[in-house]
Amino acid sequence: MLLCKEPETIGNLYKRAADLKLRTIGPKVHLRGLIEISNICRKNCLYCGIRSGNTLCERYTLTDEEILLCAEHAYSAEFGSVVIQGGERTGKKFTERITSLLQRIKLIGNGALGITLSLGEQSEEVYKEWFDAGAHRYLLRIETSDPDLFRKIHPNDRYHSYDRRIRALMDLKSIGYQAGSGVMIGLPWQNAEHLASDLLFLKEMDFPMIGMGPYVPHDDTPLTQMAATDPTASFPSVADRLELSLKMISLLRILVPDINIAASTALEALHPKGRIMALRSGANIVMPNITPSDYRKYYNLYDRKALLLEDLDLGEVEIGFGEWGDSLHFNKV
Ligand code: SAH
Ligand code: SF4
Repeated sequence: MLLCKEPETIGNLYKRAADLKLRTIGPKVHLRGLIEISNICRKNCLYCGIRSGNTLCERYTLTDEEILLCAEHAYSAEFGSVVIQGGERTGKKFTERITSLLQRIKLIGNGALGITLSLGEQSEEVYKEWFDAGAHRYLLRIETSDPDLFRKIHPNDRYHSYDRRIRALMDLKSIGYQAGSGVMIGLPWQNAEHLASDLLFLKEMDFPMIGMGPYVPHDDTPLTQMAATDPTASFPSVADRLELSLKMISLLRILVPDINIAASTALEALHPKGRIMALRSGANIVMPNITPSDYRKYYNLYDRKALLLEDLDLGEVEIGFGEWGDSLHFNKV
C-alpha cells in the first residue's frame, strides 16, 4: 500500500480507515490545546530548526503567567486538554518549574484539564515527579524505528541515542503514562520498507497514542544541506510526503483500530487542508496551537510560514468539547 500509486485504491484505503475509526471510537474528534513553552533545547537533531546549534534561531521562554493564561483559555474554550511542549532541558530548576506549573494547571476548573507533556528525554525520576504532579500523557516520538536511519539524522553523541530513547519510552509506560510516539515521514534516505517497519514497531510497542507527520525541511539545518549535496539523501516531493503521511495514518488505524492518532500540525505546512485530510483518513485528535501569537514565529521546528496565521476550520467535524479524549486502547491494557 505504501508504494501504491492507484488513486482509487488509495481513496479506498482512506475511507476504510475513516469507517473503522467511526465504528471503533465513534464520530468525535478530541482537541489538545498546544502550548509551545520554549524553543530552548539542549539537543541538536539534524532536522530541527530550534536545535541548539542553530545560532540564527531567536530563543524565547513563556512566563508562568503566560502559560497559565493559555491553559485558562483552553479551559474556557472547552478544549478538554492541553499539551505542554518545548525543547529538551534538564536540571533541578527546570524540573521544579514544570512540576509547579502542572500543579497550578490542575487547579483550573478543579482538575478539568487533561495534561500531556512533550519535553523530550528525562530521567525516570523526573518523569515520575511530573506524573505525580498531574501529567498523564507524554509524547516522545521515536522519529524512525530504524537504528541506522536514526543515527543518520542525529549527531553522533550520547545525547542522541536510539537505545536511550527506547528506554525513555519504556520508563514512561511503566510509570503509568499514556505514552505517545510516532515517526517522521518522507525523511532523507527513508524508504517504504523503513515506513512499513515503523508501523509494525508502533503496533508491537503497543503505544495507545500516535503522532506521525511529514518531514518538513528547515533551511538552517544540516539535514537540508545534506539533502542538497548528497544525491542519496533526496526525499519525496510535497505531494508524495502528504500522500505517504495520510497512507501511514490509515494503515496504522487498520493495524490498531482503537488508538488515538493525531492529525499532525506539520501536515498543514504541506497543504492548507492537511489536518482535515488526516481526519478523513482515520485520525481522531487535533492539536490547535494556543501559544500566544507573538511567540509562534520563533518555534520553528520546520518551515511553517504557512502556519503562522493558523486558522483551523473544523466545521465538518464533531468535537468532544470539555472531554479528555483518552485512548480507548490504554483503558483496555
Ligand atoms: N523537544 C521535544 C518536543 C518538541 S519537538 C522532542 O523532541 O520530543 C517535537 C517533534 O517535532 C519531534 O519529535 C519531531 O518529530 C518534530 N520535528 C522536528 N523537526 C521537524 C521537521 N523538520 N519536520 C517535521 N517534524 C519535525
Ligand atoms: Fe530539540 Fe526536539 Fe528539536 Fe530535537 S526535535 S532539537 S529535541 S526540539
